[in-house]
Amino acid sequence: MSADLPDHIDPWRAVKNGLAFDGVLSLEALPRLKAVVIPDDGEYVTRVDYRVVFERDVEGRPVVHGLVRSRLRLPCQRCLSDVRIDVESPLRLVLVRTDEAAAALDADFDPLVVSDDSIQPIDLIEDELLLAIPPFPRHALGGCGFPDASEDANFLASDRGLASGADGADDSVDSGGPPNPFAILETLRREK
Ligand SMILES: [Zn+2]
Repeated sequence: MSADLPDHIDPWRAVKNGLAFDGVLSLEALPRLKAVVIPDDGEYVTRVDYRVVFERDVEGRPVVHGLVRSRLRLPCQRCLSDVRIDVESPLRLVLVRTDEAAAALDADFDPLVVSDDSIQPIDLIEDELLLAIPPFPRHALGGCGFPDASEDANFLASDRGLASGADGADDSVDSGGPPNPFAILETLRREK
């Protein structure tokens, strides 16, 4: 069993002791996230699951790794009503003491510069979640009005492929046939 996540922790000592934390956080603990999601109400309560492990990796580097996961309620960029978006982000940071050491790391690793032997682990979790939020959260096409019908990655990929493969948004509208939904989507995107 792991302990509760402390407000502050000495990450070097935590690595030495191989500390691991997992649990659940509410929006109240994450004010920067709270500022960008739709507030909790009687219908929906946001929960953030996390796992944070301090240890040395196989090459002996002190690392903080783990996973953060949540289902966030955001305003749909198409209809502005709620859309629930699943976010999951791996945490993988290498602890360093100086900016110079950070610059020397392989590009594969994100550095966490710790100069005063203290970090706030909740900040790491909140940073990962904020980075994991898609820039244009929205329902799947036709899914507006249904809170759980979020657009998944596959749908997004095919959507983009079709839109870029079309001859052009204006042609399909001028042809007299029914408007091409992807052309309409492109128009909506341009208006943002
Ligand atoms: Zn929508």
